Amino acid sequence: MTQCNKREFNLQSGTTLRCKGWRQEALLRLLENVLAVGEDPDNLVVYAALGRAARDWPAHDAMVKALLNLEEDQTLIVQSGKPIGVLQTHAQAPIVIMANCNMVGQWAKAENFYELEKKNLICWGGLTAGDWQYIGSQGVIQGTYEIFSRIAERHFDNDLRGRFILTAGLGGMGGAQPLAGRMANAAILTVEINEESISKRLKNGFLEKRADNLDDALAMIRDAQARREPISVGLLGNASDVYPEILARGIVPDIVTDQTSAHDLVYGYIPAGYSLDEVRELRKTDIEQLMNASRSSIVRHVTAMLGFKDKGAVVFDNGNLIRTHAKQGGVERAFEIPVFTEAFLRPLFARAIGPFRWIALTNDAEDIRKIDDFLLKRFADNFIVANWVRLARQYVPFEGLPARIAWLGHGERTELALEVNRMVRDGELTGPIAFTRDHLDAGAMAHPNIMTENMRDGSDAIADWPLLNAMINCSSSADLVAIHSGGGGYSGYMTSAGVTVVADGSEAADQRLRLSMTNDTASGVLRYADAGYEEALDEVEKKAIQRIKTA
Ligand code: NAD
Repeated sequence: MTQCNKREFNLQSGTTLRCKGWRQEALLRLLENVLAVGEDPDNLVVYAALGRAARDWPAHDAMVKALLNLEEDQTLIVQSGKPIGVLQTHAQAPIVIMANCNMVGQWAKAENFYELEKKNLICWGGLTAGDWQYIGSQGVIQGTYEIFSRIAERHFDNDLRGRFILTAGLGGMGGAQPLAGRMANAAILTVEINEESISKRLKNGFLEKRADNLDDALAMIRDAQARREPISVGLLGNASDVYPEILARGIVPDIVTDQTSAHDLVYGYIPAGYSLDEVRELRKTDIEQLMNASRSSIVRHVTAMLGFKDKGAVVFDNGNLIRTHAKQGGVERAFEIPVFTEAFLRPLFARAIGPFRWIALTNDAEDIRKIDDFLLKRFADNFIVANWVRLARQYVPFEGLPARIAWLGHGERTELALEVNRMVRDGELTGPIAFTRDHLDAGAMAHPNIMTENMRDGSDAIADWPLLNAMINCSSSADLVAIHSGGGGYSGYMTSAGVTVVADGSEAADQRLRLSMTNDTASGVLRYADAGYEEALDEVEKKAIQRIKTA
Protein backbone atom coordinates (compact mmCIF):
# COMPACT_ATOMS: atom_id res chain seq x y z
CA MET A 1 0.00 0.00 0.00
CA THR A 2 1.16 3.51 -0.77
CA GLN A 3 2.51 5.48 2.16
CA CYS A 4 0.93 8.91 2.58
CA ASN A 5 3.50 11.59 1.92
CA LYS A 6 2.80 15.32 2.20
CA ARG A 7 4.39 17.07 -0.78
CA GLU A 8 4.01 20.18 -2.84
CA PHE A 9 2.41 19.53 -6.23
CA ASN A 10 3.73 22.31 -8.40
CA LEU A 11 3.52 22.59 -12.15
CA GLN A 12 6.43 23.50 -14.37
CA SER A 13 5.76 26.39 -16.77
CA GLY A 14 7.70 27.76 -19.74
CA THR A 15 10.21 26.11 -22.01
CA THR A 16 13.18 25.37 -19.75
CA LEU A 17 13.96 21.69 -20.01
CA ARG A 18 14.95 19.55 -17.03
CA CYS A 19 15.12 16.38 -19.13
CA LYS A 20 17.31 15.60 -22.12
CA GLY A 21 14.56 16.36 -24.65
CA TRP A 22 10.96 17.53 -24.96
CA ARG A 23 9.55 14.01 -25.27
CA GLN A 24 10.89 13.09 -21.82
CA GLU A 25 10.11 16.53 -20.36
CA ALA A 26 6.54 16.29 -21.65
CA LEU A 27 5.93 12.98 -19.90
CA LEU A 28 7.44 14.29 -16.67
CA ARG A 29 5.14 17.34 -16.82
CA LEU A 30 2.16 15.07 -17.44
CA LEU A 31 3.09 12.94 -14.42
CA GLU A 32 3.30 16.12 -12.32
CA ASN A 33 -0.02 17.27 -13.76
CA VAL A 34 -2.03 14.16 -12.84
CA LEU A 35 -0.92 14.61 -9.24
CA ALA A 36 -1.59 18.35 -9.24
CA VAL A 37 -5.18 17.80 -10.36
CA GLY A 38 -5.69 14.41 -8.69
CA GLU A 39 -8.16 13.61 -5.91
CA ASP A 40 -5.68 12.46 -3.23
CA PRO A 41 -2.17 13.22 -4.47
CA ASP A 42 -0.57 12.62 -1.05
CA ASN A 43 -1.45 8.97 -1.61
CA LEU A 44 -0.75 9.17 -5.36
CA VAL A 45 -4.47 8.64 -6.05
CA VAL A 46 -5.63 10.48 -9.16
CA TYR A 47 -9.29 9.41 -9.51
CA ALA A 48 -11.79 6.52 -9.41
CA ALA A 49 -11.01 5.68 -5.76
CA LEU A 50 -7.80 3.78 -6.44
CA GLY A 51 -6.41 4.93 -9.81
CA ARG A 52 -2.76 5.79 -9.07
CA ALA A 53 -0.01 7.71 -10.85
CA ALA A 54 2.69 5.45 -9.38
CA ARG A 55 2.95 2.39 -7.11
CA ASP A 56 4.40 4.24 -4.13
CA TRP A 57 6.60 7.25 -3.45
CA PRO A 58 9.95 5.48 -3.95
CA ALA A 59 8.65 4.19 -7.32
CA HIS A 60 7.44 7.69 -8.17
CA ASP A 61 10.79 9.24 -7.33
CA ALA A 62 12.67 6.58 -9.30
CA MET A 63 10.40 7.23 -12.28
CA VAL A 64 11.10 10.96 -12.12
CA LYS A 65 14.84 10.30 -11.90
CA ALA A 66 14.67 7.91 -14.86
CA LEU A 67 12.79 10.49 -16.96
CA LEU A 68 15.36 13.17 -16.06
CA ASN A 69 18.21 10.94 -17.27
CA LEU A 70 16.49 9.20 -20.18
CA GLU A 71 18.13 9.49 -23.61
CA GLU A 72 15.92 9.76 -26.68
CA ASP A 73 17.00 6.34 -27.92
CA GLN A 74 16.12 4.58 -24.69
CA THR A 75 12.83 3.17 -23.38
CA LEU A 76 11.74 3.27 -19.76
CA ILE A 77 9.69 0.23 -18.74
CA VAL A 78 7.00 0.60 -16.05
CA GLN A 79 5.23 -2.35 -14.41
CA SER A 80 2.14 -1.38 -12.38
CA GLY A 81 3.42 2.04 -11.43
CA LYS A 82 7.02 0.98 -10.71
CA PRO A 83 9.94 1.58 -13.09
CA ILE A 84 11.83 -1.64 -13.68
CA GLY A 85 14.48 -0.72 -16.19
CA VAL A 86 15.76 1.46 -19.02
CA LEU A 87 16.65 -0.39 -22.21
CA GLN A 88 18.45 0.69 -25.35
CA THR A 89 15.98 0.99 -28.22
CA HIS A 90 16.04 3.70 -30.93
CA ALA A 91 14.78 7.23 -31.43
CA GLN A 92 11.61 6.08 -33.23
CA ALA A 93 10.57 3.78 -30.36
CA PRO A 94 8.30 4.83 -27.49
CA ILE A 95 10.30 6.37 -24.66
CA VAL A 96 7.97 4.91 -22.02
CA ILE A 97 6.00 1.65 -22.15
CA MET A 98 3.78 0.42 -19.34
CA ALA A 99 1.75 -2.57 -18.28
CA ASN A 100 -0.51 -1.74 -15.34
CA CYS A 101 -2.56 -4.15 -13.25
CA ASN A 102 -2.78 -7.06 -15.69
CA MET A 103 -3.58 -10.31 -13.86
CA VAL A 104 -4.00 -13.74 -15.39
CA GLY A 105 -7.67 -14.56 -16.17
CA GLN A 106 -8.78 -16.85 -13.33
CA TRP A 107 -6.81 -14.78 -10.81
CA ALA A 108 -8.20 -11.40 -11.87
CA LYS A 109 -10.56 -10.87 -8.90
CA ALA A 110 -10.94 -7.93 -6.52
CA GLU A 111 -9.85 -9.97 -3.46
CA ASN A 112 -6.62 -11.10 -5.21
CA PHE A 113 -5.95 -7.54 -6.32
CA TYR A 114 -6.25 -6.23 -2.74
CA GLU A 115 -3.84 -8.95 -1.51
CA LEU A 116 -1.29 -8.21 -4.24
CA GLU A 117 -1.67 -4.49 -3.62
CA LYS A 118 -1.02 -5.00 0.11
CA LYS A 119 2.20 -6.79 -0.80
CA ASN A 120 3.02 -3.78 -3.00
CA LEU A 121 3.30 -5.94 -6.12
CA ILE A 122 0.63 -4.22 -8.20
CA CYS A 123 -1.28 -0.99 -8.48
CA TRP A 124 -4.24 0.02 -10.60
CA GLY A 125 -3.55 2.80 -13.07
CA GLY A 126 -7.25 3.60 -13.62
CA LEU A 127 -7.48 4.46 -17.28
CA THR A 128 -5.58 7.73 -17.39
CA ALA A 129 -3.93 7.89 -13.94
CA GLY A 130 -1.10 5.37 -14.24
CA ASP A 131 -0.13 6.60 -17.70
CA TRP A 132 -0.30 10.29 -16.75
CA GLN A 133 -3.06 11.36 -19.14
CA TYR A 134 -5.69 12.60 -16.67
CA ILE A 135 -6.67 16.27 -17.11
CA GLY A 136 -9.19 16.66 -14.28
CA SER A 137 -12.95 16.55 -14.57
CA GLN A 138 -12.81 18.02 -18.09
CA GLY A 139 -11.63 14.62 -19.32
CA VAL A 140 -15.11 13.17 -19.13
CA ILE A 141 -17.25 16.27 -19.45
CA GLN A 142 -17.85 16.27 -23.19
CA GLY A 143 -18.85 12.59 -23.03
CA THR A 144 -21.39 13.38 -20.31
CA TYR A 145 -22.64 16.43 -22.23
CA GLU A 146 -23.03 14.33 -25.41
CA ILE A 147 -25.06 11.74 -23.48
CA PHE A 148 -27.41 14.45 -22.16
CA SER A 149 -27.66 15.90 -25.68
CA ARG A 150 -28.54 12.49 -27.20
CA ILE A 151 -31.22 12.03 -24.53
CA ALA A 152 -32.54 15.52 -25.27
CA GLU A 153 -32.76 14.70 -28.99
CA ARG A 154 -34.44 11.35 -28.43
CA HIS A 155 -36.83 12.13 -25.60
CA PHE A 156 -37.25 15.86 -25.01
CA ASP A 157 -37.53 17.66 -28.36
CA ASN A 158 -33.87 18.55 -28.21
CA ASP A 159 -34.38 20.78 -25.20
CA LEU A 160 -33.52 20.06 -21.57
CA ARG A 161 -34.75 23.41 -20.23
CA GLY A 162 -37.10 22.73 -17.35
CA ARG A 163 -35.88 19.11 -17.07
CA PHE A 164 -34.60 17.50 -13.85
CA ILE A 165 -31.49 15.26 -13.85
CA LEU A 166 -30.77 13.23 -10.69
CA THR A 167 -27.31 11.76 -10.25
CA ALA A 168 -24.68 11.03 -7.59
CA GLY A 169 -20.90 11.24 -7.15
CA LEU A 170 -18.79 14.39 -7.29
CA GLY A 171 -15.37 12.74 -7.53
CA GLY A 172 -12.68 13.19 -10.16
CA MET A 173 -14.89 12.12 -13.04
CA GLY A 174 -18.35 12.39 -11.52
CA GLY A 175 -17.52 16.02 -10.72
CA ALA A 176 -18.05 16.80 -14.41
CA GLN A 177 -21.75 15.92 -14.22
CA PRO A 178 -23.13 19.17 -12.73
CA LEU A 179 -21.36 21.31 -15.30
CA ALA A 180 -22.33 19.00 -18.19
CA GLY A 181 -25.96 19.12 -17.02
CA ARG A 182 -25.86 22.87 -16.70
CA MET A 183 -24.30 23.23 -20.16
CA ALA A 184 -27.18 21.12 -21.49
CA ASN A 185 -29.56 23.65 -19.81
CA ALA A 186 -31.00 21.17 -17.28
CA ALA A 187 -31.59 21.42 -13.53
CA ILE A 188 -29.20 18.82 -12.10
CA LEU A 189 -29.04 17.49 -8.55
CA THR A 190 -25.93 15.51 -7.55
CA VAL A 191 -25.89 13.55 -4.27
CA GLU A 192 -22.45 13.18 -2.68
CA ILE A 193 -21.46 11.59 0.62
CA ASN A 194 -18.16 13.39 1.09
CA GLU A 195 -18.25 17.05 2.09
CA GLU A 196 -14.76 17.57 0.64
CA SER A 197 -15.82 16.45 -2.84
CA ILE A 198 -18.68 18.99 -2.78
CA SER A 199 -16.38 21.81 -1.66
CA LYS A 200 -13.80 20.93 -4.31
CA ARG A 201 -16.34 21.10 -7.17
CA LEU A 202 -17.81 24.36 -5.83
CA LYS A 203 -14.32 25.81 -5.67
CA ASN A 204 -13.23 24.71 -9.15
CA GLY A 205 -16.44 25.98 -10.73
CA PHE A 206 -17.91 22.62 -11.78
CA LEU A 207 -20.80 22.95 -9.27
CA GLU A 208 -22.88 26.07 -8.61
CA LYS A 209 -24.87 25.54 -5.41
CA ARG A 210 -24.93 23.43 -2.27
CA ALA A 211 -28.18 22.50 -0.50
CA ASP A 212 -28.30 21.74 3.21
CA ASN A 213 -31.03 19.12 3.02
CA LEU A 214 -33.22 17.26 0.53
CA ASP A 215 -36.17 19.64 0.93
CA ASP A 216 -34.00 22.63 0.04
CA ALA A 217 -32.34 20.77 -2.82
CA LEU A 218 -35.68 19.78 -4.37
CA ALA A 219 -37.02 23.31 -3.90
CA MET A 220 -34.01 24.77 -5.74
CA ILE A 221 -34.47 22.27 -8.57
CA ARG A 222 -38.26 22.89 -8.76
CA ASP A 223 -37.71 26.63 -8.84
CA ALA A 224 -35.14 26.43 -11.66
CA GLN A 225 -37.43 24.06 -13.58
CA ALA A 226 -40.32 26.49 -13.30
CA ARG A 227 -38.13 29.29 -14.62
CA ARG A 228 -36.67 26.93 -17.28
CA GLU A 229 -33.23 27.97 -16.16
CA PRO A 230 -30.23 25.68 -15.69
CA ILE A 231 -28.92 25.02 -12.21
CA SER A 232 -26.53 22.57 -10.58
CA VAL A 233 -27.05 21.64 -6.93
CA GLY A 234 -24.91 19.42 -4.71
CA LEU A 235 -26.51 17.62 -1.75
CA LEU A 236 -24.57 15.95 1.05
CA GLY A 237 -26.04 12.49 1.50
CA ASN A 238 -25.86 8.84 0.60
CA ALA A 239 -27.41 8.09 -2.79
CA SER A 240 -28.80 4.80 -1.54
CA ASP A 241 -30.83 6.75 1.03
CA VAL A 242 -31.68 9.78 -1.10
CA TYR A 243 -32.82 8.02 -4.30
CA PRO A 244 -35.44 5.83 -2.52
CA GLU A 245 -36.57 8.89 -0.52
CA ILE A 246 -37.18 10.93 -3.69
CA LEU A 247 -39.01 7.98 -5.23
CA ALA A 248 -41.13 7.55 -2.08
CA ARG A 249 -42.16 11.20 -2.30
CA GLY A 250 -43.56 10.47 -5.76
CA ILE A 251 -41.08 12.77 -7.51
CA VAL A 252 -39.85 11.42 -10.84
CA PRO A 253 -36.81 13.12 -12.37
CA ASP A 254 -36.62 13.23 -16.17
CA ILE A 255 -33.19 11.63 -16.29
CA VAL A 256 -31.50 9.45 -13.64
CA THR A 257 -27.99 8.07 -13.49
CA ASP A 258 -25.15 7.64 -10.99
CA GLN A 259 -21.39 8.14 -11.00
CA THR A 260 -20.31 7.15 -7.52
CA SER A 261 -17.29 4.84 -7.56
CA ALA A 262 -19.65 1.88 -7.26
CA HIS A 263 -17.20 -0.32 -9.15
CA ASP A 264 -15.22 -0.83 -5.93
CA LEU A 265 -17.15 -2.16 -2.93
CA VAL A 266 -14.24 -1.54 -0.56
CA TYR A 267 -12.36 1.59 -1.62
CA GLY A 268 -15.04 3.28 -3.73
CA TYR A 269 -18.72 3.05 -2.78
CA ILE A 270 -19.74 4.26 0.68
CA PRO A 271 -22.57 2.12 2.12
CA ALA A 272 -25.55 3.76 3.81
CA GLY A 273 -25.39 3.96 7.59
CA TYR A 274 -21.59 4.21 7.76
CA SER A 275 -19.51 7.34 8.28
CA LEU A 276 -16.42 7.90 6.14
CA ASP A 277 -14.25 7.18 9.21
CA GLU A 278 -16.05 3.91 9.89
CA VAL A 279 -15.49 2.87 6.28
CA ARG A 280 -11.79 3.76 6.51
CA GLU A 281 -11.51 1.59 9.62
CA LEU A 282 -13.37 -1.36 8.06
CA ARG A 283 -11.02 -1.24 5.07
CA LYS A 284 -8.28 -2.24 7.51
CA THR A 285 -10.26 -4.63 9.70
CA ASP A 286 -13.15 -6.29 7.85
CA ILE A 287 -13.23 -6.10 4.07
CA GLU A 288 -15.96 -8.74 3.85
CA GLN A 289 -18.37 -6.78 6.05
CA LEU A 290 -17.69 -3.68 3.97
CA MET A 291 -18.28 -5.51 0.68
CA ASN A 292 -21.58 -6.91 1.96
CA ALA A 293 -22.71 -3.52 3.24
CA SER A 294 -21.81 -1.80 -0.05
CA ARG A 295 -23.59 -4.46 -2.07
CA SER A 296 -26.75 -4.13 0.04
CA SER A 297 -26.71 -0.35 -0.41
CA ILE A 298 -26.21 -0.69 -4.15
CA VAL A 299 -29.21 -3.05 -4.23
CA ARG A 300 -31.38 -0.26 -2.73
CA HIS A 301 -29.77 2.35 -4.96
CA VAL A 302 -30.38 0.41 -8.20
CA THR A 303 -33.85 -0.71 -7.10
CA ALA A 304 -34.76 2.98 -6.78
CA MET A 305 -33.26 3.66 -10.22
CA LEU A 306 -35.48 0.90 -11.65
CA GLY A 307 -38.42 2.46 -9.79
CA PHE A 308 -37.75 5.77 -11.56
CA LYS A 309 -37.47 3.91 -14.87
CA ASP A 310 -40.82 2.22 -14.29
CA LYS A 311 -42.34 5.65 -13.73
CA GLY A 312 -41.01 6.97 -17.04
CA ALA A 313 -37.59 8.47 -16.27
CA VAL A 314 -34.75 7.97 -18.75
CA VAL A 315 -32.31 5.95 -16.63
CA PHE A 316 -28.81 4.89 -17.65
CA ASP A 317 -25.62 3.41 -16.21
CA ASN A 318 -22.74 5.87 -16.46
CA GLY A 319 -19.93 3.36 -16.51
CA ASN A 320 -19.31 2.27 -12.90
CA LEU A 321 -20.44 -1.39 -12.65
CA ILE A 322 -23.36 -0.41 -10.40
CA ARG A 323 -25.70 -2.78 -12.26
CA THR A 324 -23.20 -5.63 -12.03
CA HIS A 325 -22.98 -5.37 -8.23
CA ALA A 326 -26.75 -4.94 -7.95
CA LYS A 327 -27.31 -8.09 -10.01
CA GLN A 328 -24.85 -10.01 -7.84
CA GLY A 329 -26.84 -8.74 -4.85
CA GLY A 330 -30.05 -10.17 -6.31
CA VAL A 331 -31.54 -7.36 -8.43
CA GLU A 332 -32.57 -9.54 -11.37
CA ARG A 333 -33.74 -6.57 -13.45
CA ALA A 334 -30.53 -4.52 -13.03
CA PHE A 335 -29.54 -4.88 -16.68
CA GLU A 336 -32.84 -3.41 -17.86
CA ILE A 337 -30.97 -0.16 -17.25
CA PRO A 338 -28.91 0.44 -20.39
CA VAL A 339 -25.26 1.48 -20.32
CA PHE A 340 -24.40 4.89 -21.82
CA THR A 341 -22.00 3.58 -24.44
CA GLU A 342 -24.42 1.18 -26.09
CA ALA A 343 -27.44 3.43 -25.58
CA PHE A 344 -26.03 6.74 -26.80
CA LEU A 345 -22.46 6.78 -28.07
CA ARG A 346 -21.83 3.61 -30.08
CA PRO A 347 -22.51 5.17 -33.50
CA LEU A 348 -19.74 7.68 -32.72
CA PHE A 349 -17.30 5.03 -31.50
CA ALA A 350 -18.02 2.96 -34.61
CA ARG A 351 -16.50 5.85 -36.59
CA ALA A 352 -13.67 6.07 -34.02
CA ILE A 353 -15.02 9.43 -32.85
CA GLY A 354 -14.07 9.60 -29.19
CA PRO A 355 -12.56 11.60 -26.34
CA PHE A 356 -9.38 13.01 -27.87
CA ARG A 357 -7.47 15.60 -25.81
CA TRP A 358 -4.44 17.83 -25.81
CA ILE A 359 -2.47 19.58 -23.10
CA ALA A 360 -0.41 22.80 -23.19
CA LEU A 361 2.92 21.69 -21.75
CA THR A 362 4.24 25.21 -21.07
CA ASN A 363 1.18 25.88 -18.87
CA ASP A 364 -0.03 28.71 -21.12
CA ALA A 365 -3.83 28.79 -21.59
CA GLU A 366 -3.44 31.02 -24.64
CA ASP A 367 -2.04 28.02 -26.56
CA ILE A 368 -5.30 26.15 -25.98
CA ARG A 369 -7.31 29.17 -27.12
CA LYS A 370 -5.30 29.38 -30.34
CA ILE A 371 -5.96 25.70 -31.01
CA ASP A 372 -9.66 26.33 -30.25
CA ASP A 373 -9.62 29.06 -32.92
CA PHE A 374 -8.19 26.67 -35.47
CA LEU A 375 -10.80 24.03 -34.60
CA LEU A 376 -13.67 26.50 -34.84
CA LYS A 377 -12.54 27.50 -38.31
CA ARG A 378 -11.55 24.11 -39.66
CA PHE A 379 -14.45 22.16 -38.14
CA ALA A 380 -17.10 24.87 -38.47
CA ASP A 381 -19.42 22.32 -40.17
CA ASN A 382 -18.87 19.64 -37.54
CA PHE A 383 -21.64 20.41 -35.01
CA ILE A 384 -20.31 18.13 -32.26
CA VAL A 385 -16.86 19.74 -32.32
CA ALA A 386 -17.78 23.39 -32.98
CA ASN A 387 -20.65 23.44 -30.49
CA TRP A 388 -18.49 21.79 -27.86
CA VAL A 389 -15.49 24.09 -28.28
CA ARG A 390 -17.73 27.15 -27.97
CA LEU A 391 -19.36 25.77 -24.82
CA ALA A 392 -16.08 24.60 -23.31
CA ARG A 393 -14.55 28.03 -23.81
CA GLN A 394 -17.45 29.63 -22.03
CA TYR A 395 -17.94 27.19 -19.17
CA VAL A 396 -15.07 24.78 -18.56
CA PRO A 397 -12.41 26.01 -16.15
CA PHE A 398 -8.89 24.72 -16.66
CA GLU A 399 -7.46 22.48 -13.94
CA GLY A 400 -3.70 21.99 -13.84
CA LEU A 401 -1.99 22.32 -17.21
CA PRO A 402 -4.49 23.94 -19.62
CA ALA A 403 -6.10 21.25 -21.74
CA ARG A 404 -8.98 20.69 -24.10
CA ILE A 405 -11.04 17.65 -24.96
CA ALA A 406 -12.96 17.21 -28.21
CA TRP A 407 -14.58 14.18 -29.78
CA LEU A 408 -12.69 13.87 -33.06
CA GLY A 409 -12.46 10.85 -35.34
CA HIS A 410 -10.25 9.12 -37.86
CA GLY A 411 -8.19 11.55 -39.94
CA GLU A 412 -9.47 14.54 -37.96
CA ARG A 413 -7.15 13.82 -35.03
CA THR A 414 -4.17 13.44 -37.36
CA GLU A 415 -4.99 16.67 -39.15
CA LEU A 416 -5.29 18.62 -35.90
CA ALA A 417 -2.11 17.14 -34.44
CA LEU A 418 -0.06 17.93 -37.55
CA GLU A 419 -1.38 21.48 -37.71
CA VAL A 420 -0.56 21.99 -34.03
CA ASN A 421 2.94 20.60 -34.58
CA ARG A 422 3.36 23.16 -37.35
CA MET A 423 2.12 25.90 -35.02
CA VAL A 424 4.72 24.83 -32.46
CA ARG A 425 7.45 24.77 -35.12
CA ASP A 426 6.52 28.23 -36.43
CA GLY A 427 6.43 29.76 -32.95
CA GLU A 428 2.68 30.42 -33.03
CA LEU A 429 2.34 28.54 -29.72
CA THR A 430 4.57 29.07 -26.69
CA GLY A 431 5.78 25.45 -26.70
CA PRO A 432 4.96 21.78 -27.24
CA ILE A 433 1.52 20.20 -26.89
CA ALA A 434 0.84 16.61 -25.79
CA PHE A 435 -1.88 14.65 -27.59
CA THR A 436 -3.65 11.79 -25.88
CA ARG A 437 -7.10 10.28 -25.36
CA ASP A 438 -9.21 8.37 -22.89
CA HIS A 439 -8.85 4.57 -22.88
CA LEU A 440 -12.61 4.54 -23.41
CA ASP A 441 -12.03 4.88 -27.12
CA ALA A 442 -13.00 2.80 -30.15
CA GLY A 443 -10.01 0.52 -30.50
CA ALA A 444 -8.69 0.78 -26.98
CA MET A 445 -11.07 -0.91 -24.58
CA ALA A 446 -12.70 -4.26 -23.94
CA HIS A 447 -15.17 -3.95 -21.06
CA PRO A 448 -18.22 -6.18 -21.40
CA ASN A 449 -20.29 -4.24 -18.83
CA ILE A 450 -19.39 -0.77 -20.11
CA MET A 451 -17.65 -0.18 -23.45
CA THR A 452 -18.39 -3.39 -25.29
CA GLU A 453 -21.73 -4.45 -23.80
CA ASN A 454 -23.98 -6.18 -26.34
CA MET A 455 -21.62 -5.86 -29.28
CA ARG A 456 -23.43 -6.84 -32.45
CA ASP A 457 -21.25 -9.90 -33.07
CA GLY A 458 -21.09 -10.97 -29.41
CA SER A 459 -17.39 -10.08 -29.10
CA ASP A 460 -17.93 -8.16 -25.82
CA ALA A 461 -15.27 -9.95 -23.73
CA ILE A 462 -12.53 -10.31 -26.32
CA ALA A 463 -9.48 -8.37 -25.15
CA ASP A 464 -7.38 -8.83 -28.30
CA TRP A 465 -8.51 -5.45 -29.59
CA PRO A 466 -6.92 -3.15 -26.97
CA LEU A 467 -3.75 -5.28 -27.04
CA LEU A 468 -3.53 -4.88 -30.80
CA ASN A 469 -4.21 -1.18 -30.37
CA ALA A 470 -1.26 -0.85 -27.99
CA MET A 471 1.02 -2.81 -30.30
CA ILE A 472 0.13 -0.74 -33.35
CA ASN A 473 0.78 2.42 -31.34
CA CYS A 474 4.22 1.10 -30.36
CA SER A 475 4.88 0.25 -34.01
CA SER A 476 3.77 3.76 -34.93
CA SER A 477 6.38 5.48 -32.73
CA ALA A 478 4.04 6.91 -30.08
CA ASP A 479 5.92 8.43 -27.14
CA LEU A 480 4.09 6.50 -24.41
CA VAL A 481 2.03 3.34 -24.74
CA ALA A 482 0.28 1.56 -21.86
CA ILE A 483 -1.73 -1.64 -21.46
CA HIS A 484 -4.07 -1.63 -18.46
CA SER A 485 -6.49 -4.04 -16.88
CA GLY A 486 -9.00 -3.28 -14.16
CA GLY A 487 -8.03 -3.08 -10.49
CA GLY A 488 -10.07 -3.22 -7.29
CA GLY A 489 -13.69 -3.82 -8.21
CA TYR A 490 -12.80 -3.62 -11.91
CA SER A 491 -10.43 -6.61 -11.61
CA GLY A 492 -11.30 -9.08 -14.32
CA TYR A 493 -13.77 -6.72 -15.98
CA MET A 494 -11.64 -4.82 -18.46
CA THR A 495 -8.51 -4.41 -20.56
CA SER A 496 -7.58 -1.14 -22.22
CA ALA A 497 -4.76 0.76 -23.88
CA GLY A 498 -3.45 4.32 -23.60
CA VAL A 499 -1.26 6.43 -25.86
CA THR A 500 0.45 9.82 -25.71
CA VAL A 501 2.35 11.62 -28.48
CA VAL A 502 4.16 14.93 -28.09
CA ALA A 503 3.99 17.65 -30.73
CA ASP A 504 7.34 19.40 -30.14
CA GLY A 505 7.45 21.05 -33.55
CA SER A 506 10.05 18.67 -34.96
CA GLU A 507 9.81 16.73 -38.21
CA ALA A 508 10.25 13.54 -36.21
CA ALA A 509 7.11 14.51 -34.29
CA ASP A 510 5.26 14.95 -37.62
CA GLN A 511 6.08 11.34 -38.40
CA ARG A 512 5.11 10.06 -34.93
CA LEU A 513 1.84 12.01 -34.91
CA ARG A 514 0.93 10.99 -38.46
CA LEU A 515 1.48 7.30 -37.80
CA SER A 516 0.17 7.04 -34.28
CA MET A 517 -2.91 9.25 -34.49
CA THR A 518 -3.94 7.67 -37.80
CA ASN A 519 -3.34 4.06 -36.80
CA ASP A 520 -4.87 4.49 -33.34
CA THR A 521 -8.24 5.49 -34.81
CA ALA A 522 -7.89 3.08 -37.76
CA SER A 523 -7.65 0.23 -35.25
CA GLY A 524 -10.91 1.49 -33.72
CA VAL A 525 -12.72 1.61 -37.06
CA LEU A 526 -11.44 -1.88 -37.91
CA ARG A 527 -12.65 -3.20 -34.53
CA TYR A 528 -16.22 -1.97 -35.14
CA ALA A 529 -16.15 -2.96 -38.82
CA ASP A 530 -15.20 -6.47 -37.75
CA ALA A 531 -18.24 -6.49 -35.44
CA GLY A 532 -20.44 -5.49 -38.40
CA TYR A 533 -21.33 -1.86 -37.58
CA GLU A 534 -22.48 0.05 -40.71
CA GLU A 535 -20.90 3.30 -39.55
CA ALA A 536 -17.50 1.61 -39.34
CA LEU A 537 -17.92 -0.08 -42.71
CA ASP A 538 -18.84 3.28 -44.19
CA GLU A 539 -15.77 4.87 -42.59
CA VAL A 540 -13.54 2.11 -44.02
CA GLU A 541 -14.86 2.97 -47.50
CA LYS A 542 -14.84 6.74 -47.15
CA LYS A 543 -11.43 7.02 -45.56
CA ALA A 544 -9.81 4.20 -47.55
CA ILE A 545 -8.74 2.18 -44.52
CA GLN A 546 -7.14 -1.03 -45.71
CA ARG A 547 -9.37 -3.73 -44.25
CA ILE A 548 -9.05 -7.43 -44.96
CA LYS A 549 -12.35 -9.26 -45.30
CA THR A 550 -12.24 -12.98 -44.73
CA ALA A 551 -15.91 -13.87 -45.01
P1 NAD B 1 -13.94 9.12 -7.34
O1 NAD B 1 -13.54 7.97 -6.48
O2 NAD B 1 -12.99 10.22 -7.59
O3 NAD B 1 -15.29 9.74 -6.81
C1 NAD B 1 -16.41 8.97 -6.42
C2 NAD B 1 -17.31 9.84 -5.53
O4 NAD B 1 -18.49 9.11 -5.19
C3 NAD B 1 -16.62 10.23 -4.23
O5 NAD B 1 -16.64 11.63 -4.10
C4 NAD B 1 -17.44 9.51 -3.16
O6 NAD B 1 -17.49 10.23 -1.96
C5 NAD B 1 -18.81 9.42 -3.81
N1 NAD B 1 -19.63 8.33 -3.27
C6 NAD B 1 -19.27 7.04 -3.00
N2 NAD B 1 -20.31 6.35 -2.54
C7 NAD B 1 -21.37 7.20 -2.48
C8 NAD B 1 -22.72 7.04 -2.11
N3 NAD B 1 -23.20 5.88 -1.69
N4 NAD B 1 -23.54 8.13 -2.20
C9 NAD B 1 -23.06 9.34 -2.62
N5 NAD B 1 -21.78 9.53 -2.99
C10 NAD B 1 -20.94 8.47 -2.94
O7 NAD B 1 -14.39 8.42 -8.73
P2 NAD B 1 -14.61 9.14 -10.15
O8 NAD B 1 -13.30 9.33 -10.82
O9 NAD B 1 -15.52 10.30 -10.01
O10 NAD B 1 -15.35 7.96 -10.93
C11 NAD B 1 -16.64 7.55 -10.53
C12 NAD B 1 -17.06 6.29 -11.26
O11 NAD B 1 -17.21 6.57 -12.65
C13 NAD B 1 -16.00 5.17 -11.17
O12 NAD B 1 -16.65 3.95 -11.01
C14 NAD B 1 -15.31 5.27 -12.48
O13 NAD B 1 -14.69 4.08 -12.87
C15 NAD B 1 -16.45 5.65 -13.42
N6 NAD B 1 -16.00 6.35 -14.63
C16 NAD B 1 -16.84 6.40 -15.72
C17 NAD B 1 -16.42 7.10 -16.84
C18 NAD B 1 -17.26 7.23 -18.05
O14 NAD B 1 -16.73 7.45 -19.13
N7 NAD B 1 -18.56 7.19 -17.93
C19 NAD B 1 -15.21 7.74 -16.89
C20 NAD B 1 -14.43 7.69 -15.78
C21 NAD B 1 -14.84 7.02 -14.66
